[in-house]
Amino acid sequence: MTFRQNGQLDTSGVSGGGGGRRRGVAIGGGVGGIAIVLIALFLGVDPSQLGLTEGGTTDQGATTESAQQIQQHIDQCDLQQANADTTCRIVATTESLEDVWTAQLPQQVGVDWIQPHTNIFTGGIDTGCGAATSAVGPFYCPADNEVYLDPSFFDDVLVQQLGGSGDGASQMYVVAHEFGHHLQTMLGDIQRSQQDPAGPSSGAVRVELQADCYAGLWAHFATGTPAPGGELPLLESLTERDVDGIIQTAEAIGDDHIQRTGGARVDPSSWTHGSSEMRRQWFLTGYREGSVQACDTFSARL
Ligand SMILES: [Zn+2]
Repeated sequence: MTFRQNGQLDTSGVSGGGGGRRRGVAIGGGVGGIAIVLIALFLGVDPSQLGLTEGGTTDQGATTESAQQIQQHIDQCDLQQANADTTCRIVATTESLEDVWTAQLPQQVGVDWIQPHTNIFTGGIDTGCGAATSAVGPFYCPADNEVYLDPSFFDDVLVQQLGGSGDGASQMYVVAHEFGHHLQTMLGDIQRSQQDPAGPSSGAVRVELQADCYAGLWAHFATGTPAPGGELPLLESLTERDVDGIIQTAEAIGDDHIQRTGGARVDPSSWTHGSSEMRRQWFLTGYREGSVQACDTFSARL
């Protein structure tokens, strides 16, 4: 993947360590319940094992300095750095996602895209879904409509623990997947996850596979959608090799692979995200078709 070098990068949609988040979101009750489930979805782990406390707070004293450092890092990102550096790549990816969804969503669904805010943090962060640590992996919080990512996830967990790809495109797929959850929240599909939370053809799995499909849809259009005020797309290239890296990652975060890697037996009744094969397949469906309609995992036979 390559971002073009001679364009502007707007970093205003991304904050370091949760700075700039909208405060005052109600936590608790049904909303909190949904959110806590969703927080754990990326890796399919049990939130009770992750130090997640609904409505709790993180240790602000310990995270403030690094939040400032992350913010400084974000502020000086440009497109050249987005080709080399994970934090800047996340920033540029959110802008590419905004370009694609701003163009495609009204055209395909008749709905205007609302860009979610993205937070880059280390250690832990207080969110509209409660306090979360990096151990949950990248997540989307439907209570505050924001995306949360700790860049260390990519090397420390995705590559080293799960055998995913370390390529930039694979990181972009993860960001695009979280944006897929935002679209599901906009369209009212996200609650289907909690209504039917586990099993190989559960609502939870269908929600996750649809987010993979939406990530594929972004990849389909990313190199062909001009950035605002210009004729050139932000993302110059996404090669077949990049797509191979994305597929490697989609397979690495399949429930069967995660269970096997953790030394457990493969138990489809506990799946929340879908198998490696399902995740690969649905990313590719979105990538090949470029259609929101084709991402209707709720009507599909799984
Ligand atoms: Zn997800």
